[in-house]
Order: sequence, then C-alpha cells, then structure tokens
Amino acid sequence: MRIAVVGGGPGGLYFAALAKELDPRHHVEVWERNPADRTYGFGVIFSAPALDALRRADLALAGALAPDLVGWNDVTVHHRGGSATTTGLGFAAIGRRALLRHLRRRCDRLGVAMHHHRAAPPVGRLRAAADLVVAADGAHSAIRAAHLESFGTTATPCALRYAWLGAGGSFDGLSFLVAETASGPVLAHAYPYEPGRSTFLVEAGPGAPTAGGRPDLDGLAGLFAEHLDGAPLRSNGSRWHHFTVVRNATWRAGNVVLLGDAAHTVHYSIGSGTKLALEDALALAAALRGAGTVPDALATYEAARRPVVEDAQRVAQASLEWFENVGTALDAPLPALMTDLLTRGGRVSLTDLRVADGLPWAA
Ligand SMILES: Cc1cc2nc3c(=O)[nH]c(=O)nc-3n(C[C@H](O)[C@H](O)[C@H](O)COP(=O)(O)OP(=O)(O)OC[C@H]3O[C@@H](n4cnc5c(N)ncnc54)[C@H](O)[C@@H]3O)c2cc1C
Repeated sequence: MRIAVVGGGPGGLYFAALAKELDPRHHVEVWERNPADRTYGFGVIFSAPALDALRRADLALAGALAPDLVGWNDVTVHHRGGSATTTGLGFAAIGRRALLRHLRRRCDRLGVAMHHHRAAPPVGRLRAAADLVVAADGAHSAIRAAHLESFGTTATPCALRYAWLGAGGSFDGLSFLVAETASGPVLAHAYPYEPGRSTFLVEAGPGAPTAGGRPDLDGLAGLFAEHLDGAPLRSNGSRWHHFTVVRNATWRAGNVVLLGDAAHTVHYSIGSGTKLALEDALALAAALRGAGTVPDALATYEAARRPVVEDAQRVAQASLEWFENVGTALDAPLPALMTDLLTRGGRVSLTDLRVADGLPWAA
C-alpha cells in the first residue's frame, strides 16, 4: 500500500513509523515543511496516566523517551504574594524537539521516506498517487480546509490570547502564576521540560504587554520577575494566538483521513493534544493492519477514537471556560483557588486531591 503522510509532527511521524513497522511492505512517505529539528513551541506535558498508557501500548517508545522526560509531583499556584501546593498528582514533560527527534529516528530506522523542509504536493495529486492520505498537518490543516464541507469542520476561537514562550530553570513542577494588571489578569502556566529550560505559556486579554504585534518578552518578564530568577523569557517565533477549538463531523473523506490536531484540538490547559495525536496514530495503524480495505480501516479508526476525543474535548471546554472567567475565582482564598483550578475540568475530584496530598479521603 502507498501511504502519504502530510505533517511531521508527533501524530504524523508516529503513525508513519507504526504503519511501516506493522507491515514493512507499505511504502510510507512523510512531508514536513519545517527543516528537521525545527518546530514550534517548547515542552509538552504528559500526565502520569498518559505515560502509563503509552508504556502499555508501546514500551519501546516509552523507554526511548524516558531519559528526556522531566517528572514532578507538585502543582503550585502563586497569587498575591502567597502560594499553595498540591503534591502527588504526577506529571512529566519533554521538549517537542526531543520528542520529534525520537520519532524521526524510528521512521529512519524503519525505512519511512522522509521529506524535510518540503511542503507536501497538492492533495489532489497525493490522493491520486496514494492508497491513503493521512492529513496530520495540524490545527490549521490545509487539507481539511480544502475539504471543509466533506469533513463538516467547525473552528471556534477562544476569547483569550496565548503566547507559547520559554523560560530558564526556575520551575521544578507545574506552576500557575497570576499577575494582576490594569487591563486584567495575565496568567502563566510554567513547567520544566529539560535541565535549565521551562515552558512558559502566557494567557491574557487584549491588554497584555505587546511590542510590534508580538509578545513583549521584557514586559512579560517584568510582570513575573519574582518567579524567573533573573532569566529572560525566550521566543520560538512565538506570537499571540487565539486557541482554536477544532471539531469535525467526520474525519474521513474518500482516501483522506484526519489525524491529531487536524481532526480535533483540545485546549492546551489540559495538556493532552500530543497524547491524543499519538493515540490516534496507534489506532489508525492498528485499524489498517486489521481491516480488509482502507474504508473499513478508516471507519474502525474513527469509531475507536471519537468517544475518547469527545470526552477530552468536554474536559478541555470546561477548562478553557474556567480560564476565560478566571477573574471571579481570583478573590477566593488560595486553597480554594487551588481546588477550583485543579477540579475545573471534572477529571480530578476533591477526593483525588486529598489522596494526592496524603490526607484522609474524607474529612
Ligand atoms: C500553547 C500550546 C501548548 C500545548 N501544550 C501541550 C502539552 O503540554 N501536552 C500535550 O499533550 N499537548 C500540548 N499541546 C498540543 C500539541 O502541541 C498538539 O496537540 C500536537 O502537536 C498535535 O500533534 P500533530 O502531529 O497532530 O500536529 P502538529 O504537532 O501541529 O504537527 C503538524 C505538522 O504538520 C506540518 N505541516 C503543516 N502543513 C504542512 C504541509 N502542507 N506540508 C508539510 N508539512 C506541513 C507542520 O509544520 C507541523 O510540523 C499544546 C498546544 C499548544 C498550542
């Protein structure tokens, strides 16, 4: 079978490797418009349950990633000069570059044909030449846009803007920082992803520090100076964006299938988009191996993944709405703010928090 994969992000690369691994007779080709070792963003989080699931599904990948993961148990909220910490929830993070490097190596080892720094050929040409075209071209997928009506796409921008920045090594767990400004609160989600480096994701209304249309790194560093230990904030081509929630009525049209962010996005505040893209890749590769025809495989893939994705999107919607309305929560005492923050999506309960903090499960 000839398989064309558009997009060398986590979803596209992992699917390409798995498809080739499960059937070496497949000719699998990947196009990635960025050069190898260049990508957007900084580090991404995996929850402890997500890593457990990855270990169960693919011990080799989990083992390869392990040395590059930074783990922690603490979640801390810093607000108005005070802080509150919950322990025992369990997270780890990895740089996007390191993650993609591992996946690229696996593709190379297996004989996937990789085109770096090359935009994919027009989708019409790919559809004619390949048995299957996998659109793993991200949240703003051009392939999806070319078939909007077939996929029944809705793309809903969030009210707040975010900028995905980097910081130094002053964070040893997941920290939520609040800076109150005349134009409203500016929030940062910060966590380490490799020694001396942290993700520093800023979320704000229209009044946040901006210079030349881009995030003003010095202005933002000034707002959070007490947490940065004098290290500057870094940009990776970072801009202000409105996160867009993407949903599709169907993920398949003929021999084209959507995978990862092209099919569905979940707000970054629940840190699950990469995990979902990797799981999509596992499900699609397994379905292709198990089904007799491409249409059967695509139907099996979507049936398996849609309920999981829709559940994650429900949690993410609650989470993004919490952040959009955070102003009302900021006057609560810190422990209440912390509880509200951690239970916002409905996945973590009050009992989970008590157990995580080593308290009796009921007061
Ligand atoms: C601010 C922010 C923070 C996040 N934090 C987390 C987190 O902590 N944990 C987590 O699990 N997820 C997180 N995510 C989500 C995660 O980044 C995505 O869900 C994940 O990258 C999806 O993988 P993907 O392979 O589907 O898409 P992408 O990673 O976006 O990859 C798509 C690739 O396609 C390429 N491409 C596009 N068009 C073409 C073309 N025509 N030809 C060739 N190549 C093309 C792009 O260059 C890109 O490399 C975050 C997202 C954001 C925005």
